[in-house]
Amino acid sequence: MARTNPNIIVTGTPGVGKTTHAEQLARSLGFKHISVNQIVKDEGFHEGKDEETGSWIVDEEKLLDYLEETDLSALGGHILDWHACDLFPERWIDLVIVLRCDSTTLYDRLTARGYKGKKLEENMDSEIMQVLLDEAREGYREEIVVELRSDKVEDVDGNVERVEGWVEGWRRDNPKGREEDEGEGAKEGEGEGAKTLV
Ligand code: ADP
Repeated sequence: MARTNPNIIVTGTPGVGKTTHAEQLARSLGFKHISVNQIVKDEGFHEGKDEETGSWIVDEEKLLDYLEETDLSALGGHILDWHACDLFPERWIDLVIVLRCDSTTLYDRLTARGYKGKKLEENMDSEIMQVLLDEAREGYREEIVVELRSDKVEDVDGNVERVEGWVEGWRRDNPKGREEDEGEGAKEGEGEGAKTLV
């Protein structure tokens, strides 16, 4: 079955603005926002909490099985919002947005959220070292990965407009929709068994 709308990942370090962007994109495009954190918690797709950081240890296999059962792969039109990305099979995905944020701004956002100690430090390091951008570039074809700034409120509107334009282009390029296995170099299976913390 060909999906008639693209699936988009919105990723980045916690606090960069994934939820803010994903909600606005879902509203403006009429797409479904999938907050992976929420699903992991609601459906219990985890193996308890990491003692040191207090974060959930995600059961990726259960999560992927769950997503496979949704109409994500068949119909498209989903926004996947998570701070990890390379576990989603490339055959599902049409665009990977990596949001980036100035480190002083991110520090303020994370401390406002109550992050401190190791958890704060690890997330700050992750942004500075562009861990998510590298993960996206390693996991997906270069041409579907875009890096967008999320420092200021105006950035959100600009980014959403840009993605709306991209979606229009995708529809023009895929008038009959897109089959699951059309993409090159699906990197399915990579990272299997890895533990991701939320
Ligand atoms: P994430 O989902 O990546 O953890 P959120 O969307 O929850 O991030 O945003 C974290 C905080 O930063 C929220 O208070 C949000 O309002 C704010 N924020 C996000 N993006 C921006 C932006 N581009 N400009 C200003 N504030 C932002």
